[in-house]
Amino acid sequence: MLNKVKTQTKNFNAYKKFIAPKDFLALKRLAQALPKLKVVHISSTSQGGGVAEMLHSLIPLFNSLGIQSDWYTFSAPIRFFRITKQIHNALQGSPYSLNVQERNYYLRINQKLAQEIDKLKCNILVVHDPQPLLAVSYLKKHPSTKKIIRIHVDLSKPNRKMFNFVSRYFKVFDKIILSSLDYLNPNLDYSKINIFYPAIDPLSLKNKAISASRAKKILEDLGIDTKHPLIVQVSRFDPWKDPLGVIDVYRKVSQKITGLQLAYIGILEAKDDPQAAKILKETKKKAGRDKDIYLFSEVSQLAGYEVDLAVNAFQVYADVILQKSIKEGFGLSVTEAMWKGKPVVAGNVGGIKLQITNGKNGFLVNNKKEAAERVLELLQNPKLRQKIGKQAKKSAKKKFLITRLVYDYLKLFKAIQ
Ligand code: UDP
Repeated sequence: MLNKVKTQTKNFNAYKKFIAPKDFLALKRLAQALPKLKVVHISSTSQGGGVAEMLHSLIPLFNSLGIQSDWYTFSAPIRFFRITKQIHNALQGSPYSLNVQERNYYLRINQKLAQEIDKLKCNILVVHDPQPLLAVSYLKKHPSTKKIIRIHVDLSKPNRKMFNFVSRYFKVFDKIILSSLDYLNPNLDYSKINIFYPAIDPLSLKNKAISASRAKKILEDLGIDTKHPLIVQVSRFDPWKDPLGVIDVYRKVSQKITGLQLAYIGILEAKDDPQAAKILKETKKKAGRDKDIYLFSEVSQLAGYEVDLAVNAFQVYADVILQKSIKEGFGLSVTEAMWKGKPVVAGNVGGIKLQITNGKNGFLVNNKKEAAERVLELLQNPKLRQKIGKQAKKSAKKKFLITRLVYDYLKLFKAIQ
């Protein structure tokens, strides 16, 4: 049931240039002060979405710093992931929809998972999101292991019943990590809360610098007409990412901008997101036969390029990046685009508000009309695109690089070990 995820090797020293010299030293000293620490992370998928994105970098970086770290995902029937997607949706504000059988099934799979986790040895266990959450309450063999729950979803206005159900299981954890202060809730034990902003890896294939000419060539290979303007959204096909709204925004703007193209990159990789196929179908229907809308959902559409490189190229080459989210735990796609110096027009919600100061390093929008106005303004004004993009890069560099997140975790490990 548990599958150990193989990650690339990384050398933390290569990240020295992204961190102040005093922080680099402090971080290394902190890692040295944590010898023999063994940390296990459990999440539901190794591909697709922000959690997997971060763990692919965090795990090798921790190991490079001498913190022995392993990451496991787990397999379960599709029924389980349908249920956990409902839980995810209700935590972001959808109505509560689980019946007793579904709740029991969620519990049973987690009880099985607990037996598997019992076979592992570690000093610290970090469980990511609600999928494996309940398992920790059923462990028999980890009395002295410190336990951390890391929730990545937008908890600003959760469905109360679902929040109460899920948060009951937080009691067995020593620490609870959330992405924003806005997600605090009176039902949580505040003494356990830590706020960690998610972060991107500046040296990953997705974020490392590639030239505009390389990006252009990749986009041309993928069928994009680089003589005409392009707006891009990089997101799973998920209702909270509002792919239908993205098409409406594009249609509104294309009335004023001849030849405008839209690319939506949402490769179906996350095994914990069975809702994506349905949302893709609805999006395809809405796009109709418009030859200027490009929906990427399969690796086979990428002309042999790796997903991460294709995403990088789209983010580098787009004129404007859209992130039309209605709820957003954090929004690494936004950070990635900002890191590439792109102007982002994004929903005024959740973690996006931590990243964008409206009008300074991007635009926050409350509806489709505002989104279309901002996209149009940016497309018509190259100087504004440049100015906003420059500020965007600056703030991504200052606050949202993986070095800071590694430091956040190490400080927490030190505090609880
Ligand atoms: N992503 C990707 N391929 C895609 C669509 C998205 O690799 O086709 C990545 C995107 O680049 C980002 C992550 O998935 O790294 C999405 O993270 P985010 O925090 O924006 O949203 P989540 O999916 O976790 O809700």
